[in-house]
Amino acid sequence: MFRFFADHLRLLLQGANQPGNKGNLYRLPRRAYTLADVEIDWLKSCGIKGVILDLDNTIVSEDDRYLSPGAEDWIQKAKLAGLKFFILSNGKRRYRVQYWCDRLDIPAINPAKKPFPAAFRKAIAHMQLQPQQVVVIGDGLHTDILGAWLSKCCSIQVATLPHPLRWWEKIGGKWVQFPYPEKSKLWEFDSSFY
Ligand SMILES: [Mg+2]
Repeated sequence: MFRFFADHLRLLLQGANQPGNKGNLYRLPRRAYTLADVEIDWLKSCGIKGVILDLDNTIVSEDDRYLSPGAEDWIQKAKLAGLKFFILSNGKRRYRVQYWCDRLDIPAINPAKKPFPAAFRKAIAHMQLQPQQVVVIGDGLHTDILGAWLSKCCSIQVATLPHPLRWWEKIGGKWVQFPYPEKSKLWEFDSSFY
């Protein structure tokens, strides 16, 4: 029963705001294993001009052990292709978000209190775009994807990078995240940078 609702919620949230998808809520969900798997040309051909990125377990694992392979190169390529960026993080460690803002040269709001739309609206206004020109990319259905839906943005859910599970993730994580594929490459991150 739970699975039925979770699957339909996912289809609803991920399908509803996709470009050219008005009125068809049950189009295939938009997912990619990693940020680098997202086709920049596809985004551009759909009229996307801005990307709101999640940080934790999308770009870097919560415990700072892993980096999403190729994510930084992908961001640079996307910037060169003309896409604007903004980071929304619910993480509470400000120094960490600041480090990633500086390293990626992307502005951020933290804590963003996703899925509430206030921070999404600020990010969209900062990029000087309309919601339908923005895609939200993150690993959390209940934060990133729900927030995108509430803010009328498109969304792409990525696999959550391996990290120590919190108590609620042990119980309900499988309903709101999808696991990083086993045996797929992962990049180690040296957190002594902080
Ligand atoms: Mg996340």
